[in-house]
Amino acid sequence: MGPIVGEVLMTPDQSKNHCHDLEKVQQVLERFGVAEDADWMAVVLFVRNLVAEMNLFTKSQKCAIQAAVFEQMAARPLDRKSFRQVIATIQGFLLDNSKVADLRDQLKAERDGANALYAEMSRVVQDIQASSQTRETSLERMGRDTEKLICAEEDKTEVVRRFRGMITEMVAQAREEARTWEEHARQVERTANFDPLLSELYSRRALDVQIDGAMERARRNNSPLSLMFLDVDHFKTVNDTYGHLVGDGVLRVLAAVVSAHAMLFKGYAARFGGEELVVLCEDMDEAAAVTRAEAIRLDVANCPYEPQYDGPVQTEIVCVTVSIGVAQLQTGQTSTDLTLAADQAMYAAKTRGRNMVVAYSSLQAGPKA
Ligand code: GH3
Ligand code: MG
Ligand code: MG
Repeated sequence: MGPIVGEVLMTPDQSKNHCHDLEKVQQVLERFGVAEDADWMAVVLFVRNLVAEMNLFTKSQKCAIQAAVFEQMAARPLDRKSFRQVIATIQGFLLDNSKVADLRDQLKAERDGANALYAEMSRVVQDIQASSQTRETSLERMGRDTEKLICAEEDKTEVVRRFRGMITEMVAQAREEARTWEEHARQVERTANFDPLLSELYSRRALDVQIDGAMERARRNNSPLSLMFLDVDHFKTVNDTYGHLVGDGVLRVLAAVVSAHAMLFKGYAARFGGEELVVLCEDMDEAAAVTRAEAIRLDVANCPYEPQYDGPVQTEIVCVTVSIGVAQLQTGQTSTDLTLAADQAMYAAKTRGRNMVVAYSSLQAGPKA
């Protein structure tokens, strides 16, 4: 990296002397030979001043963006082609950002869910059409058969007996249809409420509805309501090392462990997004939820996953741990307040070393609690 690049890489003037800061940028642009070019000035200001302020990137990511862009600028000429290349580089960093990737994953999950629901509904509509056709046909047949029967049979008791037989057959058909419909309804409900990848867990949309209902019940009955927020530790490393399919498999095992625990205490286990899970615990105070969370944490840590796919790195087993934050609903809190409190406790668990459970109340009691 040349001296010019080093100079530009300096962060904006901390004294907030913007004129002085702008002068420096101008000088550097002059040395690049593009002093009058608004586009290049925009690039330098974006990379040097705006990126520095963004909380979308980590410090090392910010340095990497600046280094990549200024290195490209140092390799002149600075024409339209190199301008487009620099923009592509900036775009690449924005798209690679993990928060953007998380949003993309979330969006994909939503889209998959909507598509699955659409497919389910199409199948239901097709079945409705098919069964109404079948019913029409069998009614027509019954009409014809009845006519023939009345004309052909002298014995009226035999006519009634055969007529009864036809009715019984139709009722049996209708019963069978009702059973199929019930199964359809259950399937549609599943698709609408459960996560498409982690099918044991409720979806985010279902969770939102459930939290509102649970809060209402907690207020009405004056009973405690707690929420666990789980996040897989270093999950990006699992994906990077063993591949995304192995990562998906690990999430499925995690979902199975968490939902099995939730069933024991009537918790409502849902996928909040990405590798983040939530368990809503009605009628449970924070201390009790911490005990339950601790049991989940231990089980996850002791539950090895055997990949059935060949990832970039072959492995017999993959073990992951989770960090869990727990919070209890306080008077006047909204569902977002409750989720944020549990999320904050989860982050405290991350900063304290991961693979642990932290209660939100302990954050206010002091860092060591
Ligand atoms: P930390 O301990 O701080 O939580 O580290 P981390 O690596 O888990 O955190 P980060 O948020 O950086 O990474 C989460 C990763 O989870 C990034 C994202 O691609 C991945 N991920 C999210 N959803 C899925 C999914 O459905 N399948 C797979 N395989 N990966 C996912
Ligand atoms: Mg996460
Ligand atoms: Mg994580």
